Formats: sequence, structure tokens, C-alpha cells
Amino acid sequence: MNILVVNCGSSSLKFQLIDAETEHVKASGNCERIGLDGRILYKAGSDKSELETALPDHAVAISKVLDLLTDPEKGVIQSLDEIHAIGHRLVHGGEKFASSVVVDENIIKEIETCNDLAPLHNPANILGIRACQRAMPKIKHVAVFDTAFHQTMPPKAYLYALPKEYYSKYGVRRYGFHGTSHSFVSRRLAELAGLDYENSKLIVCHIGSGASISAIKNGKSVDTSMGMTPLEGLAMGTRSGDIDPAIIEFICQKENISVSELTMILNKKSGVLGMSGVSSDFRDIIAAADDGNEDAQNAFDVLVYRIIKYIGAYYMALGGADAIAFTAGAGENSSEVRKAVMEGLSAIGIKMDEEANKKRGEEALLSTPDSKVPVWIVPTNEELAIARETAHLAF
Ligand code: ADP
Repeated sequence: MNILVVNCGSSSLKFQLIDAETEHVKASGNCERIGLDGRILYKAGSDKSELETALPDHAVAISKVLDLLTDPEKGVIQSLDEIHAIGHRLVHGGEKFASSVVVDENIIKEIETCNDLAPLHNPANILGIRACQRAMPKIKHVAVFDTAFHQTMPPKAYLYALPKEYYSKYGVRRYGFHGTSHSFVSRRLAELAGLDYENSKLIVCHIGSGASISAIKNGKSVDTSMGMTPLEGLAMGTRSGDIDPAIIEFICQKENISVSELTMILNKKSGVLGMSGVSSDFRDIIAAADDGNEDAQNAFDVLVYRIIKYIGAYYMALGGADAIAFTAGAGENSSEVRKAVMEGLSAIGIKMDEEANKKRGEEALLSTPDSKVPVWIVPTNEELAIARETAHLAF
């Protein structure tokens, strides 16, 4: 059984064809610059290719992907009959979706009611579903939501201290994101740490250019740092994370800009990029800080300090922690970020193994045997998690 995993952005379409039994990735790629000039990066085994090709819309992109997958030379399957289901990544499922679903017309309508909550992402995700449904109408399409895993949060974690009607009228509350990753990583963390997932207290730090931390009790998310949108919480590559909400009116007045302009700045020009003026990539920030750039050092310190604060808060929220995981780009690969975070956690008895912390991108125990809480690298794999969910619902 082969599953095609599709992740549609407004101008991109990432895909992986995964064998559901062996979990082997047969082919993967990314259609970039959809609606502009168009380019497809494609990888099958050790063969990599880059194709400049017109991609006027998502429907054309998906048909080109299907052509590539079945191409006599570059392809990995002989016909489309060898794709048995498609798993789609959906950013926002609001309160409607607490788990993945098989998509039909009613489900699409329900997803559309969540579009207000993710105006940049959900419409693109739906375009991708429709294009794939048209190309492959006979197989099952499964929607896997970034928000679903966090639907188990209690009201005290998801409610904002705002007038109640904003929640009841508009659904203003914490939803949380990266749910597929937090779910996948926390399950694996429990296995690695020899814990019973259903009876454990775990903290997962997903530190990519988008970053969030979650508290997972007995296999259920009980709190997470991203909010109604992915803007809340940690300092990220380009996102500010937490700020005093009164700053918004203050800056809009001083700079004579609109709230939407400032929201764009908070999403795309803030975080370590805005603080340092150097880059949104943590590697560049670390290199610049090492060269004595004070703004880059401040950006690194804010990033790390906020991770420590959230771990501390979730340690208390959970009443302790049985294990902590680092995952995603910097979580898996940055010894510097992990070292600085773990040094800040000595108050809860965490001790880092310097040698182990040199490891990158692989499962590894980072803490010493006498550390009060074990800390692990657990590489995330959102595509595989989506493929598993899809296989579970489709067959
Ligand atoms: P996203 O999916 O949010 O774009 P990823 O999880 O792929 O992010 O993470 C990408 C980010 O991880 C990069 O922007 C970079 O800042 C960070 N990263 C990757 N490797 C390292 C490293 N060795 N040191 C520091 N940061 C790293």
C-alpha cells in the first residue's frame, strides 16, 4: 500500500510517497513558486532532479507530480492505481476536528468554516485537497490537522482572559499547532524512555524556524505555547512569540501603520531575524554571536530564555516531568541551543552529557544517568505521522 502525503502552502506543494508497510519513502519533492514561474524539486532514491516548469495553479502542480511518480524513467510506480490513499496536512481544524478524518464534501465545508482562523493556510490546503480529489477521485483522502492533538487541553489552558463573547462568538482561544509532531515525538519519547505513554508526563520542545513547546500528560496534550495562531509563545525565526498586547496600538500610532501591517511584521520580520538584523536561521545567529555581534547574542539569549521559561512552566503544570524531548531543525541539530537550555534547567535537576549533546539528527539520550529528568533528541517526521494516520483511516 502506497500513501501520498501532500502538504500545500499558498505557493508550494510538498509531497512524499510512502510505502505504508515498510514506511520507506519511495519519492519526495516540492513544487515551488506555484502561480509564478514554477519549479519542481524531485527525489527518488538517490536520484535528484530539478525541473523548471509552468505551475499556474495547484491542480497543474499535482498532475505534474503524478506524472513524475509514474514516469517510465524517473517514476517509482507504474500507474496511479499504485497510490492507495492520500493524506493531506491541514493547518487549522478549529474546535471541529479533534482527530483526522476521511474527507468528503461536508468535511470540506466544515474545514472552510475554520478558514478565518488560518486565512493564509487553510484555503491553500483545501485547494490541494480539491486538486488531488479531481486527479484521483476513487481513493480515500484523509485530512490530518495541526491543531487536532491539542484539542484535549482543558479550558484553563485554552481560554484567554478576555470577555467571554470573543470565545463564544468567534472561537478566540488557544488551539496550538505542530500537533502531528508533538503527538509523534511524545509517543516515541515514551518508548525511548521506557515509559507507559498513557501514564506519563512529557514535555516536547519543537524548535524549528517555527517553534512550540507542549505539555503532554497520559498521552494527551494539556498545554502548548502557540495560541489561536502560530504567533504566540517562543521567539522564533521570524515570529515575535509573546509580547505585551498593548505594544500593538503603541507601535501602530508611532509608526503610522495599520494593525495588519504590524501583524505581518510580528509574523515575518520579528523573532531572531528582527532582533538581530542578521538572519532568521539560528545557525547564522549563533555564528554572528560567536563573532561578537551583540544583537545576535541577544536574539540567541531571548530564544533560549523563553524555551527555559516554558519548560519551567510546563514542569509545574504537569506536576513534574518524566522525560523531555528536543525535536525539529534546531532541536535535533543545534548542540548550542540544547546546551544553553539544559544549563538553564539545573533547578529541576537536569544534567547534560557533553559528549552525547554533540549528536545531531538522531535519537539520543542527552542527559547523564543521574539527571533527574531524562532529556532526549527525538527526530520528528510529520509526513510519516500523516501517512500512519491516513493508513489507519483509509484501509
Ligand atoms: P520549519 O519546518 O519550521 O521551517 P525546521 O524544523 O525544518 O523548520 O527547522 C529549520 C530551522 O532549524 C532552520 O531555520 C535553522 O534555524 C534551524 N537549524 C537547523 N540546523 C541547525 C543547527 N545545526 N544549528 C542551529 N539551528 C539549526
